[in-house]
Amino acid sequence: LIPPKMRKVALLGSRSVGKSSLTVQFVDQHFVDSYYPTIENTFTKIVKYKGSEYQLDITDTAGQDEFSILSSRHAVGLHGWVLVYSVSSRSSFEMCSIIREKILNYTGREKVPMVLVGNKSDLAVQRQVTKEEGAALAANWGLTSFVETSARTGENVNRVFDLIVAQIESELNPQPEE
Ligand code: GDP
Repeated sequence: LIPPKMRKVALLGSRSVGKSSLTVQFVDQHFVDSYYPTIENTFTKIVKYKGSEYQLDITDTAGQDEFSILSSRHAVGLHGWVLVYSVSSRSSFEMCSIIREKILNYTGREKVPMVLVGNKSDLAVQRQVTKEEGAALAANWGLTSFVETSARTGENVNRVFDLIVAQIESELNPQPEE
């Protein structure tokens, strides 16, 4: 029996972009419609990737803003980072760049396994950030992993976690160049 490989990831982003909702939708497959400001929670889910089992430990952080910026425990000892903004909030989109800088500073690395997520894609009328802008920011960071999600409908939620596991594994086991 092969024990699952442990991988620790954190969801970071401004308050109320849907970090808890995404996590709960992924782990429990339902949408919680009541807003309670998150205290930090950790969830666990076993996922399969390329035939191996992984135990994902997911930290749903309390949320970052210009006053309570990231602490080192949101950077050290983690394997991957999911940066979340809401497509209905331009300021939450801008916060992602600040958070990414902090992670790179804390880890002292130029690149880390990361997925950029534009959540609340179901809110068409309130949209402030286009999909193209999200994709362009990710590309600017040298990231192939950008996705728009809706924790409400469940759209692309599993994909976020597939992408982060794939990123982590490709970093730990780089494929030889073709
Ligand atoms: P967090 O502070 O980042 O953890 O955000 P929450 O998960 O607590 O969500 C904040 C609010 O946004 C709550 O009222 C959620 O119900 C709502 N919300 C979260 N995700 C979505 C989504 O994909 N679509 C819509 N329409 N609302 C969402």
